[in-house]
Amino acid sequence: MERPRITIFDTTLRDGEQSPGCSMNVQEKLRLAQQLDRLGVDVIEAGFPIASDGDFEAVQSIAASLRRPIIAGLARACTGDVDRAWQALQGAARPRIHVFLATSDIHLKYKLRITREKCLEQARDAVRHAKSLCPDVEFSPEDATRTDVAFLCQVVEAAIAAGATTVNIPDTVGYSMPEEYGNLIRTLREKVAGIDKATISTHCHNDLGLAVANSLAGVQAGARQVECAINGIGERAGNASLEEIVMAMRVRPDRYCYETAIAGEHLYPSSQMLAEITRVPVQPNKAIIGRNAFAHEAGIHQDGMLKNPLTYEIMTPQSVGVPDSRLVLGKHSGRHALALRCEQLGHQFERRELDEIYRRFVVLADRIKKVQDSHLLELIQDVASGNVSSSDVTGSKGKKFPPAAATLQFPRAVSAAAGANASDSHPAQVSGSAGQASVSIPFTDHHSEQEDYLWGV
Ligand SMILES: [Zn+2]
Repeated sequence: MERPRITIFDTTLRDGEQSPGCSMNVQEKLRLAQQLDRLGVDVIEAGFPIASDGDFEAVQSIAASLRRPIIAGLARACTGDVDRAWQALQGAARPRIHVFLATSDIHLKYKLRITREKCLEQARDAVRHAKSLCPDVEFSPEDATRTDVAFLCQVVEAAIAAGATTVNIPDTVGYSMPEEYGNLIRTLREKVAGIDKATISTHCHNDLGLAVANSLAGVQAGARQVECAINGIGERAGNASLEEIVMAMRVRPDRYCYETAIAGEHLYPSSQMLAEITRVPVQPNKAIIGRNAFAHEAGIHQDGMLKNPLTYEIMTPQSVGVPDSRLVLGKHSGRHALALRCEQLGHQFERRELDEIYRRFVVLADRIKKVQDSHLLELIQDVASGNVSSSDVTGSKGKKFPPAAATLQFPRAVSAAAGANASDSHPAQVSGSAGQASVSIPFTDHHSEQEDYLWGV
């Protein structure tokens, strides 16, 4: 049976960047956008061009440099915003203008100070104008989940009639419950004329910790685009976390039988790159990509893991790109191992850059026993910024991330426990000998710093 394809719309660079402490400059945004391209997201919302010159420039440079993904620019529902977004998207191979306008009474009355009639007219006019410039137009009725349902249907219908090809239903304030959100999507499908001509999208905030659950409920009710962000960053408590959405569908195809184009092995590098750029670390127990996400501490769990990882593991670290814990970087490591680890940390280099990093790495590895990820990241930054010295790496000074966890990591053969192919499999239901490779590795060998350092960033 063919699975419905879900469009992954990443808003790390727009909504995500609006989180306190997560602002990025143009270069950083471009670098992250390139990683999002490798990750396989379908749409990159690159920014809000009228908001600032920096945002404009970021959208412009991302639009000019990435050809595969759709590049979206955000605009309020007015001519000036739409024109500015369109201007920024000029170089894009696949541009999208994303128009939004609040529709809830509370926003209309206190924020916009306009009537429902005016709101309807403004939405229609702005979408029509955007459509006259760009064939791909998305419309978002902001605060949709607190909007009168009949009025919401009216606005969505008008936006589609005016040319919107995607209608996004934001739970702007993170207020909805999964069942409620699913029902709202269902109601729109039933009541809005022309809804089949547009893709329905979710955009859920995490104020009650339900962003992912709400998004999944929306998908089950017929939404075919999910807006989300790496590490779940976004306004206030954040957006739906991209890695959680994707892996929920992958690990439980029996419940969520949908496809995405995401390359699972790039989830962890993307998360690491974002944390490194923004210097906002990922919470240790964060699902999928937190440093404890694959750590097992309780004795009974460790015992089970040694006998068969499937006892306590529903997906493999490899399936989300968590580096192979057997690879330890030291002075005997080669260029290839170094390049691989750099890649796992979200950095890809030209040969010449890699030569320079390797040269410094060898000097460093000669002085300290093991080169940890945090050291490597500092070294990479030094090289990237042209700093001469990367010597201040032996102490904890300058460390941006918490120290490594003191829990046990279980190395395994790459092919174990559904390994590289885990994206399509359902390891929790696999029985038999998968993952046995780790059993032969003595317990004590792995209760060491060497195993922990992978999680120290
Ligand atoms: Zn938002």
